[in-house]
Amino acid sequence: VLDRAAIVARLREISQLLEIHGGNKFKARAFSRGARALEASREPVTALVEEKRLTDLPGIGHALARQIEELLRTGRSELLESLRTGLPSGVVELSQVGGIGLHALKSLHEELGISTVADLRKAAEEGRLREVKGFGEKKEKKLLDAIKKYESAENKKPTILLAEGLRLADSIEDEMRELPSVESVHLVGSLRRGMELSADVDFLVGSTDPRATIAAVAKMPRIGTVESKDDRSCRLRLPDGTRIDVLACEPKERGLLMVATTGTKKHLEDLCARAEERGVDLERVHAKDEADIYRALDLAFIPPELREGLGEVALTANGETWDDLVTADDVRGFTHCHSTWSDGRHSIEQMAKAAEARGASFITITDHSAAAHYAGGLDVERLERQWDEIDEVQERVKIRILKGTEADILADGAIDWPDKILERLDVIIASIHNRFRQDEEKMTARLLRAMQVPVFKIWGHPLGRLVRSRPPIPARVEEVLDALAESRGGGAIEINGDPHRLDLEPKWVRKARERNLPFVLSVDAHSMPELGNVRYAALLARRAGVRKSEVLNARTAAAFAKAVRPTGAKKNRAA
Ligand SMILES: [Zn+2]
Ligand SMILES: [Zn+2]
Repeated sequence: VLDRAAIVARLREISQLLEIHGGNKFKARAFSRGARALEASREPVTALVEEKRLTDLPGIGHALARQIEELLRTGRSELLESLRTGLPSGVVELSQVGGIGLHALKSLHEELGISTVADLRKAAEEGRLREVKGFGEKKEKKLLDAIKKYESAENKKPTILLAEGLRLADSIEDEMRELPSVESVHLVGSLRRGMELSADVDFLVGSTDPRATIAAVAKMPRIGTVESKDDRSCRLRLPDGTRIDVLACEPKERGLLMVATTGTKKHLEDLCARAEERGVDLERVHAKDEADIYRALDLAFIPPELREGLGEVALTANGETWDDLVTADDVRGFTHCHSTWSDGRHSIEQMAKAAEARGASFITITDHSAAAHYAGGLDVERLERQWDEIDEVQERVKIRILKGTEADILADGAIDWPDKILERLDVIIASIHNRFRQDEEKMTARLLRAMQVPVFKIWGHPLGRLVRSRPPIPARVEEVLDALAESRGGGAIEINGDPHRLDLEPKWVRKARERNLPFVLSVDAHSMPELGNVRYAALLARRAGVRKSEVLNARTAAAFAKAVRPTGAKKNRAA
């Protein structure tokens, strides 16, 4: 059975093939819009199909719904297969190189068996393209240049999602540790900095015999192709195209190389400037680990997540220290958890026990409100029944369960519950789930009104972005932050660790910190394993320099409950 990702990928391919065939542009666009909608939906595809609710999703009409149904039931799509007929398997990528039309691609495929960009490059390098009618020596050379340009742009494109990259890195790390002469394995690069998207996965491997280590790394069974290799480093590709860069070093070089391969160019320039100023030759510092490098520059240790070159070196030079940045381990309570009462996969009891097993002392159950009907949102009657269930479950578990809601911020900015209900809840998360396309004026007004509601609220996944597929909503963010900071009820900013959301972004979190707004590191969990999202929320918060004391759910259950209680009192200041 095809899962959501596989169906989405096929819809995208149909859209791209329609483009390549040069047919109906609107139809092509409809497929890519539909793919995006299906990707963003939380509901199991099987349920959407069986209950005939696909067309409830924005941008999915009947024709598209039939395609999705066909893909789900048969694992195939007749439309897709007819579009693929006679074309090389890598046609989508090939067409992106530019300079070759559909007709030429077909003859290259028929005569030279070219299916992928790699095939094309090889044939061009070997001078075989000129055998095909319509390709001369000159055209061959031009094409080779285009391929190189395409490949280098492609290599720089960040497409690896933080959570997927870290999961992959963890398993590669384990595998590399077993290789001969390997003493240490460290993830470096943008993934280590906690960036939302990375272009590749970078490792620094400490080794007593770098050459032997690189040779062994290049032979790991999971590797697809070795793109380049020398005595110290190699660039590899997994079969799915993911790029892995490995640099091997001797133990005495490790500290310096970890710094050099982790920070952005700007961070490194700032460090070099400091070294020059102080007459320190970094190459000569005996640095077994990174702290030795920062120490040699008379700087406190700068955590990897801050090494973006955004002024952190100057701040540290001025005496700023970073030991109290929040960590995932500081979080004592899982906030923003869904259950089977709305669109979660597990019951309240299962979620509470899973949170308890992870060592938490509280959990907030925040299912959707009625406006989110597509996600099984609760009305007042069901909410009250849910409270009864929470009371029952509470008897059986040690962890404290708080009664919450993830209430929709309606199109006009009202929060989707009557006032008398708001006051009876333990915790309110207020989020936007629809009408993302309001213009900046309307959206800002909508948020201003929501933030001014005189109860404490946590602004959930504030700008509604999806890392790969939906831009942040248009709004004057600083104005909204001001309103929240000044509102009578007060409020906090959610830093949502759902790997597809990672919202609010660090650049805005910094603005919220300037206003002394407190934060909640949330998991937005729709199942027990998603409690692990706290790892990503913490990375995001650390990138913005958030301290443990600014995070409400790093407090005890009692202190958290008191801070977020939706009464009118003003408690929007971080302690
Ligand atoms: Zn939500
Ligand atoms: Zn949610």
